[in-house]
Amino acid sequence: MRVFTAHVNVARQKRRLIKAVRFYPLLVGAILAFAYLFGAFEERVDPLIARDTLITSLYIWVGVVPTLFIIAFVLLARATDKESQKITSERFKSAAANPFLLPSEKMHGYKLALITNRPPTLTGLTGDSYSSDDQAVCSEDDQHVPPVLDCECGFYAYKDYEEAKFELSLNPSAFLIDVDLFGLGLVYKRGYRAESQVVNQLLLPKRCMRCHLMPAQIFVADYQIGFGDSLWWRWQIRCTFCSRGVKEKNRMSIAEMKKALAIAQ
Ligand SMILES: [Zn+2]
Ligand SMILES: [Zn+2]
Repeated sequence: MRVFTAHVNVARQKRRLIKAVRFYPLLVGAILAFAYLFGAFEERVDPLIARDTLITSLYIWVGVVPTLFIIAFVLLARATDKESQKITSERFKSAAANPFLLPSEKMHGYKLALITNRPPTLTGLTGDSYSSDDQAVCSEDDQHVPPVLDCECGFYAYKDYEEAKFELSLNPSAFLIDVDLFGLGLVYKRGYRAESQVVNQLLLPKRCMRCHLMPAQIFVADYQIGFGDSLWWRWQIRCTFCSRGVKEKNRMSIAEMKKALAIAQ
């Protein structure tokens, strides 16, 4: 909470500074007009304001003020860096609190998965595929037995169903799965990262993933072009209407899909 408040303050100062910078050319224009009106640019015997004073204040506005703005931006950038370092270190501190103790709570949670390829496979949003009962592997370092504290490896899950459901609304082509995590686990505020994972349940949407209106009834595979022209199959659950015309080999009932993924429920 403290970190969050500090972040808001730095962000607010930055907004203020940017507003002030936008205002600066207007002020310079106003000062030039002012100087002109008071005769700074002509030879008057008896000007209202001494010419030197006007010229000096112009130098200040043109030279000193932008320098001050630059200094303020540098200081703010440094504050932002420090802050993000602090957030990262606090996050790891909370993760590192009990990393080598067996977690005191059962690591049960929810997460998002795509169903890809043939035969159908569970695939995380980061692109790593896994079976319904699997050990995590590290894609960065083959010396790692996940989860490793300063790496990102391991199986992740949200503790909270509502949070996973919110993520699902941002990734409508994914499915929600109910999982238990085992082995060495790191406990975060929002969830877990652990060594192994068992998928308990495939939670299906009520409505068709294509028309979003009719009841979801059958899995169909359609293909999508992935990165670098690689062709990959993605499974969706659709209504009878939206699955019309899909070849028999590209269709699967819900029971068949659960059997193919080796998920009990
Ligand atoms: Zn790793
Ligand atoms: Zn439909």
